[in-house]
Amino acid sequence: MIQIASSDRVFILTGAGISAESGIPTFRGPGGLWRNHRVEEVASPIAWRRDPRFVWEFYSMRRRLAAAAKPNDGHIALAELEKRLQDRLFLCTQNVDSLHERAGAQRVIHMHGELFKSRCDSCDRPPFPDDRTYEPPAPVPCCECGGQIRPHICWFGEMPYRLDEIANALDRCSIFIAIGTSGVVEPAANFVAHTRGRARSYYVGPEEPANIAAFNECFSGKAGDLLPSLFQLE
Ligand code: NAD
Ligand code: ZN
Repeated sequence: MIQIASSDRVFILTGAGISAESGIPTFRGPGGLWRNHRVEEVASPIAWRRDPRFVWEFYSMRRRLAAAAKPNDGHIALAELEKRLQDRLFLCTQNVDSLHERAGAQRVIHMHGELFKSRCDSCDRPPFPDDRTYEPPAPVPCCECGGQIRPHICWFGEMPYRLDEIANALDRCSIFIAIGTSGVVEPAANFVAHTRGRARSYYVGPEEPANIAAFNECFSGKAGDLLPSLFQLE
């Protein structure tokens, strides 16, 4: 059990593991390869420059998969926690699916972007909702400026989004909980170290993450099994 007092501020970081029970494969587990390519080779600015159609084919497949998936008990438990804690919960996800929102969470921070948004690769037009699939032989969509429309995703080598808000929330939290994340993708893997000495820290997942040593306590098991009865509010 994680005891949450009325004075606590909770930072939750979720990773691909929380959506695994909804049928969305993680990158490092089985399903981490796509047509014999490592995901890192497709989700990158280099791949986009070399072959944007190929990149859109990958994200079209991921849009289809994510659209068919349903939130699981882990997503639902976090949405309920948000209802009770309101702005004392900062829910930050590395996931690009929208399963937290579909479970009812209202204030999700998507540090790696959102699968159901696109943006221009050349101009400042803000990201816009987009659930379409763009697959060869269809052409890559174009912006009015002449640039190409790309997925609103933080690719390997790009800067994650909303890092100022995240740093602020890390500074203020008294409880840090990471769920279903392997602890190797920076900067997220370093968040727990940032709270050290100030916040109690917990990890939830079936395997030890690479940064296990930085946590105070580890709950071993699936998010969907553990989260519904993990939190005790004062
Ligand atoms: P990862 O693939 O590196 O690791 C997944 C982690 O989830 C592993 O540690 C595994 O033990 C754990 N896990 C597996 N099943 C679980 C369950 N039922 N409950 C709890 N944990 C479980 O994922 P990552 O650390 O999030 O980093 C990879 C990157 O891939 C992230 O940037 C993320 O954006 C991206 N990604 C996102 C999605 C998605 O949006 N659903 C899916 C795959 C990858
Ligand atoms: Zn443009």
